[in-house]
Amino acid sequence: EQAISLVGKDIYEILIKGYTEKQWGRKATEVPAFIIKRLPVRFTFDNNYFNDRYQGIPIGGYNKLIEGLLEGTEVRTGIDFFSDRPYFELLADTLVYTGKIDEFYRYQFGKLAYRSLRFEEEILDCPNYQGNAVVNYTDAEVPFTRIIEHKHFEFGIQSKTVITREYSTEWKENDEPYYPINDHGNNDVYRQYKELADKEENIIFGGRLAEYKYYDMHQIIEEVLKRF
Ligand SMILES: Cc1cc2nc3c(=O)[nH]c(=O)nc-3n(C[C@H](O)[C@H](O)[C@H](O)COP(=O)(O)OP(=O)(O)OC[C@H]3O[C@@H](n4cnc5c(N)ncnc54)[C@H](O)[C@@H]3O)c2cc1C
Repeated sequence: EQAISLVGKDIYEILIKGYTEKQWGRKATEVPAFIIKRLPVRFTFDNNYFNDRYQGIPIGGYNKLIEGLLEGTEVRTGIDFFSDRPYFELLADTLVYTGKIDEFYRYQFGKLAYRSLRFEEEILDCPNYQGNAVVNYTDAEVPFTRIIEHKHFEFGIQSKTVITREYSTEWKENDEPYYPINDHGNNDVYRQYKELADKEENIIFGGRLAEYKYYDMHQIIEEVLKRF
């Protein structure tokens, strides 16, 4: 109802219904209405998805940006915080925690649910596959939600091209938890963890897993700057 009142039946059926059901793995009628409210709707010929005046990614990609920020800092990757929690908790006066909040509190109020993704990559022997970095497939018959053609993020002119098909999947233990599922049940569980987190004095809980919240890059960067 929320979607139909926003865009009408035709656009709902062509663009929203199948895509939403693929993305969330449930019937569109079972997805909370606020998710649809997030859809940018406007009456113009601008075919960008977002309304933002400036859109882009850092030149050279995010790795380059992050490497620059971290220069001179000791960094250890591939280490699970929970592999030696007491050690990491005592390492500094303040801890910034960006992992799953339910895991941090040993799942005492129950587990939060997530959506996950499966990526299927292919190198194609042609310079250009789809002419755009992202093409979404909105119908329910196509099993993937979108194809990314990476070179177009940086206007690449290589003779070959790498594409990735993205499949939305139910999250299971040991999968990467990509998206929080902010329905009422999960939000209620999260609120209980947040109450504990708010009482911590030397721990900053930040990001999509620790705050159980969907962030875009510009939003998480803004949030980090604010907290800093
Ligand atoms: C498929 C996909 C596509 C996206 N596309 C866009 C887009 O086009 N535009 C856009 O603006 N945003 C996009 N986003 C969102 C963007 O990726 C997020 O906004 C951003 O990464 C959030 O930053 P974060 O710091 O909250 O979380 P993350 O980047 O996930 O950082 C959390 C960090 O904590 C680490 N961590 C977690 N648990 C542990 C642990 N137990 N021990 C040690 N380390 C741990 C993780 O390894 C990770 O490095 C996309 C997200 C996904 C999943």
